[in-house]
Amino acid sequence: MTPRTTTVAIVGAGPAGLVLAHVLHRAGIAVTVHERQSRAAVESAARAGVLEHRVVEYLRALGLADRLTAEGERHGRCEITCLGENVLVDYGVLSGGVRHWVYPQQLLLRDLIAGYERDGGAIAFERPVRSVTADADGRPVLDTADGPLRAEYAIGCDGAHSVVAAAFPDGDTGPGRRYPYDWLTVLARISRPVEQIRYAVHADGFAGMMPRTADVGRFYLEVPADEDPAGWDERRIRAELGRRLELGGEDPALGALLETGMLRMRGRVAHRMRAGRLLLAGDAAHTVTPSGAKGLNSAVADAADLAACLLAELLDGDPTGLDGYQRRRLDAAWQTQEFSDQLLDLLHLPAGLPPAQREFALRLRLERIRRIAAPGPEGAAFALAYAGAGELPLPAMWPSAQGAAVATGATGR
Ligand SMILES: Cc1cc2nc3c(=O)[nH]c(=O)nc-3n(C[C@H](O)[C@H](O)[C@H](O)COP(=O)(O)OP(=O)(O)OC[C@H]3O[C@@H](n4cnc5c(N)ncnc54)[C@H](O)[C@@H]3O)c2cc1C
Repeated sequence: MTPRTTTVAIVGAGPAGLVLAHVLHRAGIAVTVHERQSRAAVESAARAGVLEHRVVEYLRALGLADRLTAEGERHGRCEITCLGENVLVDYGVLSGGVRHWVYPQQLLLRDLIAGYERDGGAIAFERPVRSVTADADGRPVLDTADGPLRAEYAIGCDGAHSVVAAAFPDGDTGPGRRYPYDWLTVLARISRPVEQIRYAVHADGFAGMMPRTADVGRFYLEVPADEDPAGWDERRIRAELGRRLELGGEDPALGALLETGMLRMRGRVAHRMRAGRLLLAGDAAHTVTPSGAKGLNSAVADAADLAACLLAELLDGDPTGLDGYQRRRLDAAWQTQEFSDQLLDLLHLPAGLPPAQREFALRLRLERIRRIAAPGPEGAAFALAYAGAGELPLPAMWPSAQGAAVATGATGR
């Protein structure tokens, strides 16, 4: 069969794939997007919900943030409880005004899909890419249900088990860490909105409460690694959340548990994000635990960088941005990984710590919590990294770039 052709073949309609597709398509580049799941599945999976400042500013400049900024909530404070003390981290103030937006990932995906389709883009849902090979000229050929598809570039935005990454010559997935605990995840109806993220550092394990919508909250409970979810019935989950988070009369009351799951806690960064005409973005190249809420944000940051430098290459014949893509984004991925790892270290006691030593470890953590909550270099550094200060690179030809640098080399985390 003669392969169909396109310029950029994107695998995966998650945040990375959709943002990249949007920018390239709007600039007149021929793009295909293949997505393994149904549209309904993509538009309903509840995952992230805490968006960095720079990501929202970028989406706003692309004209993709109308509903997000109308219906989302701005958050600039979180609280960390430890040994009965509730420390308020006013990171919106410590950072000089940089704050998060809270908006569920599934709503953002709906907006991105709608925006792409409004511009005439099409997504091939329920059309997995089975493998990627190369033709005699070294151009990628994707094996799809509709037959082979040849592209100038194939971009793996296909998450942690990427078929594009699997086509890299060395098949190397990069170094990773399996943490000695997992997080039991809960999506629950709540009586009133979560006003600020609460992290509870507790002798019996970490617990977290995150905002999502006015009547739904996301909760986390630390459990031993590889814990069997069968041991956690609803009564136990409710009791443990209430106890570790010290939920009181002022806090949202837990209603129906809408969804529970077990998140195996891992971090990983690939050694490479490019092999010739194959490129990776987002979870396909690096996965980070939800602590610090960086996964979706990093995926969009990769896509923004890649979109700007692919346009420079395809429209202006300038390969310099693309040549530096891997180095910039791997550096950023490691910075993100380090931030998330430090936060995990703060939020969890060392594995296997005898009960008699837990108070000491908690007291040390309380010192660190107080330091990041206090005005000064440490508080400011935490706040800026947490809320996602800075900006993502808009392509030079984009109207809102208004002469700002193409920034194929300027990204920040
Ligand atoms: C419980 C939970 C909470 C989280 N909270 C946050 C948070 O608050 N903030 C944050 O920033 N991040 C958070 N994350 C992480 C975030 O959801 C991910 O990092 C983000 O979705 C990654 O985006 P992506 O586009 O790289 O990949 P994905 O969102 O995984 O998208 C990949 C897409 O590719 C498709 N695909 C896979 N293989 C193929 C194939 N062979 N062919 C075609 N399509 C394919 C998949 O179906 C999927 O739609 C959370 C994650 C979880 C699980």
